[in-house]
Amino acid sequence: MGQTGQGSVGIGRVLASRSAARSSSAKFRIALAELDSGAGYLSYLVNEANSAQTYFYFDLVYLPVPSGTIRTSDNAATEPPRLFLPRIDDFLRPLPRQLAVDMVCILTRCLIGGFRLDGTIFGNHFCAALTNEPKVFAVSTYQMRGYADKAGVSFLKSILFLCIGMILVGQTRLDFHDDTVGCPLDRCERSRDEIVEGLKRMRFDHEPCRREIDADMRDAIDSLLSLPLSGHHKTI
Ligand SMILES: [Zn+2]
Repeated sequence: MGQTGQGSVGIGRVLASRSAARSSSAKFRIALAELDSGAGYLSYLVNEANSAQTYFYFDLVYLPVPSGTIRTSDNAATEPPRLFLPRIDDFLRPLPRQLAVDMVCILTRCLIGGFRLDGTIFGNHFCAALTNEPKVFAVSTYQMRGYADKAGVSFLKSILFLCIGMILVGQTRLDFHDDTVGCPLDRCERSRDEIVEGLKRMRFDHEPCRREIDADMRDAIDSLLSLPLSGHHKTI
């Protein structure tokens, strides 16, 4: 189908970020898939993340935005844009196979909506996976620049923090928790502002979560959360 040889149409892959040796030695391969976040310097983020550790290998791809993806209300000026994941489920679900990776992280400027396991609808999440498919998840950059500023971390770092929470949920038995303790697994459902606690702390030291994962993954997450990623802080 596609000219990338990955069986996908119109998906641009940043080959410059690929290092075959590092990629093959990694335990998990994760595609960072830019949809419409407009976040700059993603190749910088990917290269820094790959240099800091070898457990995860990050790759950067650019996805075409399927028509009708973004739901805006009549009050577009006051209502935030929303991406309702089930609307593009058919497009997203095959991506891990098409891109030959273990997980795909979609980056969007929209708030994220979808169905909970009990069938109810959510519409304002920072991040969420497809229904019954933890390998494909979306991370929202909506208001993240402001939250990152409040926490004193770079915007790219805040994206990586959200991504790590979803990787933990997708690759371990862990899940988000209701307590807000400055952990990447804080659910922040009472108030989105609670994300600032985790961004400020920028550590994975919440013992009930930390003890559930193996040492290699812990070390890699510690290395990722220690990255300054502030090389472009003033310009993004
Ligand atoms: Zn935790």
